[in-house]
Amino acid sequence: MAKLSKLLERLRIDDDARLVDPEKAGTDCVISDNPSTGEPLMAVRLDRADDLEKTVQRCTAVQKEWRVLPAPVRGEIVRRIGEAFREAKDDLGELVSLEAGKIRAEGLGEIQECIDIADFSVGLSRQLCGSTMHSERPNHRMYEQWHPLGTIGCITAFNFPAAVWAWNAMLAAVCGNVTLWKPSLMTPLVAVACNKVAARVMKKQDLFKPSSGDPRDVFSLIIGADNEVAERMVADRRLPLISATGSCRMGRRVGQVVAGRLGRALLELGGNNAIIVMPDADMKLVERAVLFGAVGTAGQRCTTTRRLIVHESVADRLVERLVKLYGNITIGDPLEEGTLMGPLVNARGVQDMRAAIERAEQEGCKVLCGGVAGIERMKKKPGHFVEPTIIRVPLGKVPAICCEETFAPILYVFTVKDLDEALALQNGVDQGLSSAIFTDSVRSAERFLGHAGSDCGIANVNLGTSGAEIGGAFGGEKDTGGGRESGSDSWKQYMRRQTCTINWGNSLPLAQGIKFGED
Ligand code: NAD
Repeated sequence: MAKLSKLLERLRIDDDARLVDPEKAGTDCVISDNPSTGEPLMAVRLDRADDLEKTVQRCTAVQKEWRVLPAPVRGEIVRRIGEAFREAKDDLGELVSLEAGKIRAEGLGEIQECIDIADFSVGLSRQLCGSTMHSERPNHRMYEQWHPLGTIGCITAFNFPAAVWAWNAMLAAVCGNVTLWKPSLMTPLVAVACNKVAARVMKKQDLFKPSSGDPRDVFSLIIGADNEVAERMVADRRLPLISATGSCRMGRRVGQVVAGRLGRALLELGGNNAIIVMPDADMKLVERAVLFGAVGTAGQRCTTTRRLIVHESVADRLVERLVKLYGNITIGDPLEEGTLMGPLVNARGVQDMRAAIERAEQEGCKVLCGGVAGIERMKKKPGHFVEPTIIRVPLGKVPAICCEETFAPILYVFTVKDLDEALALQNGVDQGLSSAIFTDSVRSAERFLGHAGSDCGIANVNLGTSGAEIGGAFGGEKDTGGGRESGSDSWKQYMRRQTCTINWGNSLPLAQGIKFGED
C-alpha cells in the first residue's frame, strides 16, 4: 500500500478527486484490485449518466475550436504529450504492472507504445493528405480533402489499459477531434494517470486557449458502468465514431447500436491466432516465438498465440521441447526481476481457463503441462496465478473449444500433413486477427501471404503472432471486427472525406456530357 501511495504521488494523482480509500468506498465506486494479490489497490468514483451528458457537451464545445487549430499546431501539442509520457514512463509502466498484472518489461512496453504513437501522430499532423484528380470537364479542378469528425468515443479493454487509448486519442487529436475515453472498470487507475499526463500538458500549453471551455476537454475521461454510461455513449449521435476494443460479444452489441443510428464503429475484437510450423522452419525461432506469443501477458493479448499447427514430421519433437521450456517459466510478482508470467486479471479469468481445459479434455484432448492441476498448484499463491498450459488435440479433430478465444495461456497443438490442411485449420475459426508461419521455403511463405492464404488482418513470416509495431495498421477480419488502428492510413477512419470540384471557367459543362437546357 505504501508502495502504491508513493507511486500515485510520483504520478501526481494521489489527490485526484476520483480516488477513494477502498475501505471508505460506497456503491458509487469501482474497486481496482491488484491481480497479483487479489487485494484492493484503490477505489475510483464512478461517473453517472448526468456526468456523461455534461462531458459530451464540453467535448462538443471544445472540438469546435480545436478543429480549426492548424493540424501541425495540434501536432506540436501532441509532441509535448509524448514528451510527458517519456518522463512518466517508468511510473506509468509500474502502474500498468500493478493494476493489469503485466510483467515490468511489458508494462514499460505499453507506455512506449503511447510514446511511439504520439511521435507518429506528430509527423502525421503534416501529412493528412488528400489526392488531386483530373476533371473530365474543362477548366475544372477536382480534389479531396479530409475534415475532423467531432468527438470520438473510445472504449478500451483491460489488457491494454493505456496503449489502445493512445492509439486512438493521439491520432484523433492531430486529425482535429477530441476523444472521450471510457476505460475498462478493471483498470481505472491507469486511465486516471494517463488522462492526467495529457491534461497537465493541455493546461500548461500556450498554443490552444479556447474561448469557451477547457483545453483539457480535448482528452476527456468518463469512468462509468456499461449499462449506465458505456451503452449511452454508444447510442449518442453526438459521437460520430465509436472506437471499441474488447470481446466479440461486446463488439456485436456496440456494432449493432452504432449501425442503428448510422454512425461509424471501429471495432477491435477478440482473436484466435495460430502459428503454422512447416518442416523447414528454424526451430529456435519457433520456440521463442511460441513462448512470447502463448505465455507472454499470461495469454491475455488479443494477438496471443492460441493454436499451434505443426507439420507431422516435426510435431513430437517441438512439443517435447515446448513442454520442457514451459517448465522453466518463472511465474510470480510481475514487478520482480526475472518473472516471465504474471497473474490473470481476476478470479473470473481463472475460472474461464479451468472451464476451457475441462471442456478440451471432454472433447478428447490431452493436457501436456499446466492444466487444472497447474491451477490447483498455483492456489498456494495469493492472487490469480495459473500455469501456462499445452494441450494436444487428437489427430483430425477440431474440438469446439479450440474455436473460441479463452483469455488465458492455453496453447492447443494440432498436427497436420501439409500446408493446405494447416491453412484450412488456421482460417477455420470465426476470428481473424493475427497469424504466422515459420518456414524457410519461399513457396510456403508466399502461399501463406497470397489471396488463398491467411485470412487474418496480420500475417507474419518467421515471427510470432503478438507484438505488433505501431507503424502498421492494426486489426483483424471476420469476428475480430474489421477495424484498423494505429499506423499506415488508419487516421482516415478519424476523418471525413470531402470531394471538392472547382469550376474556374465561364461555362457550366455537366459531367457525362449531359446536355440540359442552354449552353
Ligand atoms: P470486454 O468486452 O469485457 O470489455 C471491453 C470494454 O467494453 C470495457 O471497457 C467494457 O466496459 C466495455 N463494454 C462491455 N460491454 C459493453 C456494452 N454493451 N456497451 C459498451 N461498452 C461495453 O473485454 P475485456 O475483458 O476488457 O478485454 C479482453 C477482450 O478484448 C479479448 O476478447 C481481447 O481479444 C479483446 N481485445 C482486442 C484487441 C484488438 O485490438 N483486437 C485489443 C485488446 C483486447
